[in-house]
Amino acid sequence: MVADSIDRLRAGIRDVPNFPKHGIVFKDITPILVDAQLFRESIEVFLERCRTLPIDKVVGIDARGFLFGSAVAYALGVGFVPIRKKGKLPFKTASAAYSLEYGDAEMEMHVDSIEPGEKIVLIDDLLATGGTSAAAAALIQKAGGDLLEAQFLIELEFLHGREKLDPTPVVTFLKF
Ligand code: AMP
Repeated sequence: MVADSIDRLRAGIRDVPNFPKHGIVFKDITPILVDAQLFRESIEVFLERCRTLPIDKVVGIDARGFLFGSAVAYALGVGFVPIRKKGKLPFKTASAAYSLEYGDAEMEMHVDSIEPGEKIVLIDDLLATGGTSAAAAALIQKAGGDLLEAQFLIELEFLHGREKLDPTPVVTFLKF
C-alpha cells in the first residue's frame, strides 16, 4: 500500500532546473499538495512511521516542513512546533546558527514550545546538506527535548546530509 504510494509520490515531484539559482535542481512538491489523493498519501507515509513511535510533539521546519508536519501532528493528536527563519517568531526565542553555501543563517524556536523530556519527531520536506535540520535538532535538544528521529519526504543522498544529524536517526521516503 505505502510501497505503491512511494512510486506515485516520486512521480509527483517536479524537477525545476536552475531554481532558486543556477546549478540547483529544485525538487518541487507542489504537484503533490495540489492533488488531494497524493497529498493524503504523502501524510500517510509519515504517519505509518510515526505511529510506531511514542511522540509528544512534532516539530516542523519553515516553510514546507509546516505543510507535512502540521498535518501529521493533527492526525496523531499531538502538538505542533514551528521552527522558523530568524525574525519571524514574535515571542522570546532560542536560536541556532548554521552555514549555507554562501554565508550563514539562523533558525529560531519559541522558548516555551518544548518541555524537557518531551519526545519529538522533526519533519521537513527535503534533506539536502543537513545544515537546516541540524540547527533545528540543536534547538530541540537545547530545550531538553528527546529527539526520537528526523523524517523527510525526500533525501538528496549525494549531499550526505544525514551525517550532519548523527547520532539522530534519519528516516526518508524518496531517495534521489
Ligand atoms: P539543507 O540545509 O541543505 O539540508 O537544506 C534543506 C532545506 O532547503 C529544506 O528546508 C529544503 O526545503 C530546502 N532545499 C534544499 N535543497 C533543495 C532542493 N534541491 N529542492 C527543494 N528544496 C531544497
